[in-house]
Amino acid sequence: MKFVVECFGCRSNQAEIQEWIIELEKRGYERTTSAAEAAFGIVNTCSVTEKAEKDVLRFVARSYRHTGVKWLVAGCTVSRDRSVMDLKYREYFFYDNRQKERLVETVCDLFPLDSRLVYHSAFRSRVFLKVQDGCNFRCSYCIVPSLRGKARSLETKAVLAKARHYASLGYHEVVLTGINLSAYGYDLFPRQTLLALAAELQHVRGVEIIRLSSLDPRYIRYPFVKELSAMPKVADSFHFSFQSGSDAVIRRMNRGSRSADYRKILSQFRECFPGANLGADFIVGFPGETEKEFRETVAFLQEAPLNYLHVFPFSPRPGTKAAALESLPPALVRARAAELKELGRLMKLAYRESCRGQTFSGILIEENPNYALVVTRNFLSVRVPPVRGYKKRKLHVRVERVVNENLCEGKIA
Ligand code: SF4
Repeated sequence: MKFVVECFGCRSNQAEIQEWIIELEKRGYERTTSAAEAAFGIVNTCSVTEKAEKDVLRFVARSYRHTGVKWLVAGCTVSRDRSVMDLKYREYFFYDNRQKERLVETVCDLFPLDSRLVYHSAFRSRVFLKVQDGCNFRCSYCIVPSLRGKARSLETKAVLAKARHYASLGYHEVVLTGINLSAYGYDLFPRQTLLALAAELQHVRGVEIIRLSSLDPRYIRYPFVKELSAMPKVADSFHFSFQSGSDAVIRRMNRGSRSADYRKILSQFRECFPGANLGADFIVGFPGETEKEFRETVAFLQEAPLNYLHVFPFSPRPGTKAAALESLPPALVRARAAELKELGRLMKLAYRESCRGQTFSGILIEENPNYALVVTRNFLSVRVPPVRGYKKRKLHVRVERVVNENLCEGKIA
């Protein structure tokens, strides 16, 4: 029996959906990209911004009208407000963040299989592994803690078992994800840390690359960076949730850091991972962000050794502190977002240019008759001529040409 999936939102959502796919395939279901041949669909939803939520609602409404697929709708949008959706889309099934933990079993009950034939997915390379959920912070703009609850971590043993399982299925890169990944292990007894988890994962055979998703600056200290750099499987790409370069705005966001902390963190990473690809999240147009404060962020970015940015125009989320503050004019927010996005695009281009002529290890993520695509340890996508026999192992690729800010070309070294 075939199913389609759709995913909105963060890497935690992607990790969840990947896990559901793997588990369903193990039980004999087959994933397809064509809704026309699917018996059911699973969508993981997001409410982190107004736009994300609108996209979800538009998707659900459109699929309800136009496809015969029965969708299981799960995640944050359902947690936020399921009553309206329940009434409007009576043929669909809804699961909030708590209920979705049993989603795979629910599928098996709703859509039982005749046979136990196991379907093997076509290409396996990178997998998101969710090791943490929830958050104990209260950033003033963020709705996530109220939708996902308190921080909780997967026991280290369970993480290692999952990593081994994924490695046995052919995944070479594991991306550790969490709503607040840096908080990993603080809720466990005995207490664990992300650093200790990364150290344990070094020993999992078959996993060649361990990539950490977004890091919270409040948890980063020099020994963390230094010890991480001694772990050979840790990828040379790091992402930080900075959100602003203006101290006044960071304070109003209730983030408990300062731009000086960010500078320190970046210089520590540059020292320990000299060629790494470093990026960060920034929110623009936070309520009350003055022109001076926005320029402070721009000045911060012009000096910061960052290589890419994820820019989010502020959108008020009902129930958060920031939603009660007066929003800036949308046109101004859009203009500021466009300015930072362009800065981010130039950073990406400059970084890729600096990589030209260099060789990086990586893994194959796509293969077709015309080309193959490699993702390197420092998170470059490099298109190379078609290759054979690299699916099951690490390879090295030399970057020869920068096609655009998202793609390089090169050859297997
Ligand atoms: S750290 Fe802040 S932004 Fe991140 S999930 Fe927690 S409250 Fe939200």
